[in-house]
Amino acid sequence: MSRVVFVNGEYLPYEKSKIHIEDRGYQFADGVYEVFAVIDSKLADYDAHMSRLLRSLSELNMKLPYSRKSIFFHISNIVKQNLISNGLVYLQISRGVASRDFKFPNNTKGSLVIIGKNMPSDEYINTFHKGIKVSTTRDLRWKRVDIKSLNLLAPVLAKQAAYEKNCEESWLIDDDNFITEGSSSNAWIYQNGILITRPVSNSILNGITRSTLIRGLKKRKIKYKEAKFNLEDVKKSSEAFITSATQHVMPVVKVNNIKIGKGVPGPRALDFRAAYMESLKLTEL
Ligand code: PMP
Repeated sequence: MSRVVFVNGEYLPYEKSKIHIEDRGYQFADGVYEVFAVIDSKLADYDAHMSRLLRSLSELNMKLPYSRKSIFFHISNIVKQNLISNGLVYLQISRGVASRDFKFPNNTKGSLVIIGKNMPSDEYINTFHKGIKVSTTRDLRWKRVDIKSLNLLAPVLAKQAAYEKNCEESWLIDDDNFITEGSSSNAWIYQNGILITRPVSNSILNGITRSTLIRGLKKRKIKYKEAKFNLEDVKKSSEAFITSATQHVMPVVKVNNIKIGKGVPGPRALDFRAAYMESLKLTEL
């Protein structure tokens, strides 16, 4: 079966999908996106992702190019037509097509693309049992990374640098030597019985998985703290994690040359993952 994608009002085979050469997403990274996890053919935390999408759009003076209702309908079609049981939906909105000019065009309808991807859940489980390795690099991103914008060159370079060091994720280090977050995830350490993650600000993306995990921690009365941390704190940690829509809660077993705990996922990893899983909201399609 060929994959089907949604591009500006049309359902097209993956291979035939096309975007205009003067799309502002392509020329200026002038747009935003969301990644929704699909779990058991349902959408995880759909409303929270949509709220963040609306916030990202509004911070860039953009509007949803279609109604919320029709966007849900198209997402649902993409999940169903591509037979996605576990995986993700990638949704991107750019400011649309216009002759190249930095300032905003007048009355241009935004471009909307929706892509679905299957990600077998046993791959996730295998990685969870091994844990991932992280390397660090300077945080070279712009100052509004709270907006989930298409401006992703710095994370691309960070992830590639990690990959070249045989690591799966890169943690980004700010000018005061604190870790902001991962190139595509939020960062956590577990120290003296307390799970720690950086507080929300313009320097990190307010991860939906992060918020859902925090709800789960509260329910389970697991201690957590929102505080900045650096590599010295990582050294003192017995466990570490990343969170994101596609990685859920994923144990980190090494950061640069620092072995975390015994170098394998620690004893709390399953609890933290369960705290996330039981708190997320699933939307039927
Ligand atoms: N931070 C960054 C920089 C990200 O790209 C992501 C993934 N989109 C996250 C955090 C995690 O966000 P979420 O849990 O909403 O996927």
